[in-house]
Amino acid sequence: MRDRLFFLISKYNLRPNRDLGQNFLIVPDIIERNVDRAELSESDTVLEIGPGLGILTDELSKRAGKVFAIEKDPRIVEILKREYSWSNVEIIEGDAMKVEWPEFNKVVSNLPYQISSPVTFKLLNYEFEKAVLIYQLEFAERMVAKPGTRNYSRLSLMVRAKARAELVERIGRGAFWPKPKVDSAVVVLEPKPRSERVELNENLTKALFQHRRKKVYAALRDSRHMIGLDKETFRRNREIIQKVPHSEKRVYELSPLDVLDIQDYLLENGLLYEKG
Ligand code: SAM
Repeated sequence: MRDRLFFLISKYNLRPNRDLGQNFLIVPDIIERNVDRAELSESDTVLEIGPGLGILTDELSKRAGKVFAIEKDPRIVEILKREYSWSNVEIIEGDAMKVEWPEFNKVVSNLPYQISSPVTFKLLNYEFEKAVLIYQLEFAERMVAKPGTRNYSRLSLMVRAKARAELVERIGRGAFWPKPKVDSAVVVLEPKPRSERVELNENLTKALFQHRRKKVYAALRDSRHMIGLDKETFRRNREIIQKVPHSEKRVYELSPLDVLDIQDYLLENGLLYEKG
């Protein structure tokens, strides 16, 4: 695996593009473990975002029925097309945040770190079975953080609203070429059953988490414009808003169900205009 990667890099004189997060995984064991974690079979269709030089893609193609790989760098797409003769891999050239995603039931990727956040939010809107993803360590820690802890953020809340997320392995920066400035981690995401998923209003969660250490009422007051309330409307409804559920908690202590209570209360009182 590793030899193939360096062979391709030197054959095509490829200079990794840092703006595209091109840090290639060079430790075969990590690739194997992630493919194992995805529990692939012939009936699976895997989405890979950012196949790079195809080392992980190659392993996925051996175990899954079909692999779709979205790659933005045209130089890399050209190399993949020349060097591999996969029958079950389709390379989609384009920006993963702009192209339409094909149907898939699993995701395995070493994500380009620049788009970790939008890719994760986008993924959470899909029906899938399992995703095995490599992120920057700090981002991964935020993804799995529990309410009331130091790393708990809007990202943690939104992930928790829809999925179970587990940080299953830390990866030192030396496992990549070129070596990035930070460590990484593997996160396994599995969507919660539909009945347990919580649809949260994006404006409300953004307004609250703008002030993650404040109490709920103060956070709403200070971000009222983000949920469409002007100063006068807020003032007129102050007493109602003071009775908002969980008003005694600080924002970083709120679970998805707590935020749902707040959302429902504001909706019932005509102080929020749309649901999820
Ligand atoms: N999967 C390979 C590996 O593990 O060695 C490469 C992973 S590398 C961290 C990220 C890859 O994503 C690069 O090949 C990069 O060109 C590609 N990429 C960056 N931004 C992208 C985007 N917006 N859409 C699709 N691919 C992107």
